[in-house]
Amino acid sequence: MKNVVLLGSTGSIGTSTIKVVEDIPGHLRLVGLAAGNNSELLLQQTLQHQPEVISIFDPVKAAELQKNVKPGTKVYSGNDGLLHLATLPSADIVLIAIVGTAGLQPALAAIRAGKDIAVASKEILVMAGEIVMSEARKHGVRVLAVDSEHSAIFQCLDDKPGSSVRNLWLTASGGPFRQTPREEFANITVEKALKHPSWVMGQKITIDSATLFNKGLEMIEARWLFDVEMARVQVVVHPQSVIHSMVEFVDGSMIAQLSTPDMCLPIQYALTYPERIGSNRVQTNLAKIGQFTFEEPDTERFPAINLARRAGEVGGTLPAVLNAANEVAVDLFVKRKRTFLEISQSVARVMDCHKVIERPTLDQILEADAWARLEAAL
Ligand code: NDP
Repeated sequence: MKNVVLLGSTGSIGTSTIKVVEDIPGHLRLVGLAAGNNSELLLQQTLQHQPEVISIFDPVKAAELQKNVKPGTKVYSGNDGLLHLATLPSADIVLIAIVGTAGLQPALAAIRAGKDIAVASKEILVMAGEIVMSEARKHGVRVLAVDSEHSAIFQCLDDKPGSSVRNLWLTASGGPFRQTPREEFANITVEKALKHPSWVMGQKITIDSATLFNKGLEMIEARWLFDVEMARVQVVVHPQSVIHSMVEFVDGSMIAQLSTPDMCLPIQYALTYPERIGSNRVQTNLAKIGQFTFEEPDTERFPAINLARRAGEVGGTLPAVLNAANEVAVDLFVKRKRTFLEISQSVARVMDCHKVIERPTLDQILEADAWARLEAAL
């Protein structure tokens, strides 16, 4: 039985994680749950799973929750609450599924407390991949991927060293505008961008999938998780989303991981690794799927790929700047204060005016993040 702390329990990844825990009774126990705002769902999850500790961002909501949970459950709030959960003595693994950058400090705290972490919040590795991975090495803990692409690569690599890799191939569905001509990009609305062809996800990642910034963030995430420089991280569009990613080895052999798309599978693998536990949730019928197709990503219509490659190659504070500028631009797009095309234009502008700091400290990364947020809002 592994004890799991789940940060972001009320979101898309969070609720899938709870399904996984329920799918495989006797293997995983939820000892801590944290949410941002949704106290009703957090209460329901708490009454169902009886964790030791829960946390919600707003202290007023935390006080209200404390009255409604069973006496054995303690309720915390704010960023301190997240840090408390991340370092909970009984936890074996901390799954971080908080949208945006709020998961970075809890991730580092968990690592320093000797916990394995399972990372859904790719922003953490984009911002501070070098620091997170070196802290994990120093404390002898694992950083396990929840993103389906990185879970696929992890499974295909099967502990082979970086020197045996010619290329990592991240697959991309291409998003809802894969076949939309460039002239029509000016008419893309929030509603259209929120309709993803293959996955049902939170709002931020759904917009990122439409601009392909999601793939860009994943390229940088892969660079750090697997210690492979950006030149060996490639993207291929695979609209069926059945091949979740591939590794091309130095001898020319390519190994892929396949399944019908369901986030429960990579979540379960990260939480139960190195075991494989039986579950009937995911069934894949290749004859029914019939065809796999592949295309090169169109980097003119989707500048995010080249912006991310540049950020990953330059390194230092530039990936944190790309990530923060994108977060702000997506937020403004959703609030209808920016157009779809302005998302990548704004990220490019902020990157262009940033003075990169090489080998930054965590404080310098956080400063660059704060600077980029102000700049992107102009
Ligand atoms: P959602 O928007 O669905 O969920 C976000 C979660 O974070 C919610 O539980 C929210 O709580 C919580 N949260 C936000 N701010 C705070 C805070 N300050 N303290 C505590 N909790 C907070 O996002 P997703 O689940 O889609 O994505 C989460 C992360 O996983 C993202 O980084 C995304 O890129 C990544 N990811 C998602 C995938 C997917 O299929 N959805 C696939 C791969 C990666 P509340 O709702 O209560 O406000």
